[in-house]
Amino acid sequence: MEAEKALRSHGLAVTAQRLAVLRAVADTPHATADQVAEIARKQIGAISKQAVYDALRILAEKGLVRRVQPAGSPALYEDRTGDNHHHLICRTCGKTVDVDCAIGDTPCLSAADDMGFLIDEAEVIYWGTCPDCRQKT
Ligand SMILES: [Zn+2]
Ligand SMILES: [Zn+2]
Ligand SMILES: [Zn+2]
Repeated sequence: MEAEKALRSHGLAVTAQRLAVLRAVADTPHATADQVAEIARKQIGAISKQAVYDALRILAEKGLVRRVQPAGSPALYEDRTGDNHHHLICRTCGKTVDVDCAIGDTPCLSAADDMGFLIDEAEVIYWGTCPDCRQKT
């Protein structure tokens, strides 16, 4: 079982709640914590919102999920980690899609001048209007 292996290899105890949360994030990229809770509930029945938040926090700490925090919106969670990909978000409907770094592998992690910092993430969000919403206007 993929999710079980992932938890173990990151030194996490395998619990039904963590499995359900991890699978929910894998099945529904860019889901909010509330959406993750809803999906997890369908899988395993009762799971408290707090348990979902706790699981998401530890999964993010261990690098199993990535947390994206668009300005003015709830955080989004996804299991595509480690490639520093960016996001396109529609201002009108909130549709969120992945977009690779502009050129090559994680170029945004190479700042023009890193000032001695060890950089591990460059958060880039492109805001705009998705094709569906553009057609409606
Ligand atoms: Zn849209
Ligand atoms: Zn993404
Ligand atoms: Zn980039």
